[in-house]
Amino acid sequence: MEKIDSFKIDHLRLKQGLYISRIDKVGYEYLTTFDIRMKKPYDVDDSVMTTGSIHAIEHLGSMFLRNDELWKNKIIYFGPMGCRTGFYLIVEGNVDTETILPLIERTFDYIAEYEGEIPGCSPKECGNYIDMDLNEAKRDAAIYYNVIIDGKKYNFNYPKPKESKKN
Ligand SMILES: [Zn+2]
Repeated sequence: MEKIDSFKIDHLRLKQGLYISRIDKVGYEYLTTFDIRMKKPYDVDDSVMTTGSIHAIEHLGSMFLRNDELWKNKIIYFGPMGCRTGFYLIVEGNVDTETILPLIERTFDYIAEYEGEIPGCSPKECGNYIDMDLNEAKRDAAIYYNVIIDGKKYNFNYPKPKESKKN
């Protein structure tokens, strides 16, 4: 089988940030997949998210994104990465990072400041509602919010592939 594009990114050199993972054409429309990378892979000081944190961020983030006046009709999907270092967001259209950035800022600011009941947190509405940790989610969201607020160039561009050595 062929390697998929996301396995070709050098995760050892990847920093926290917001990246375009892929742009797909479906019929006449484009779909843009963003890599919301909240944790630097293999960072000893800031390890991967707990399942409780990532689950609470998923609920709060989905609610916020699908209610945002500007973007709600363009949100296709928001969900966690299996490695627990971030999320994927898929939106309708060929969208660049600069355009989506204010939405990402609003979303993570909302989660970082959230108080009260987590939406959808009941056995009828969710498959594992007990595994939710709002405090951890708020902490992880705040860390990420600060990274993208004073974002550097490397927070928005995947590391360039190293040139392969010629034999
Ligand atoms: Zn759930």
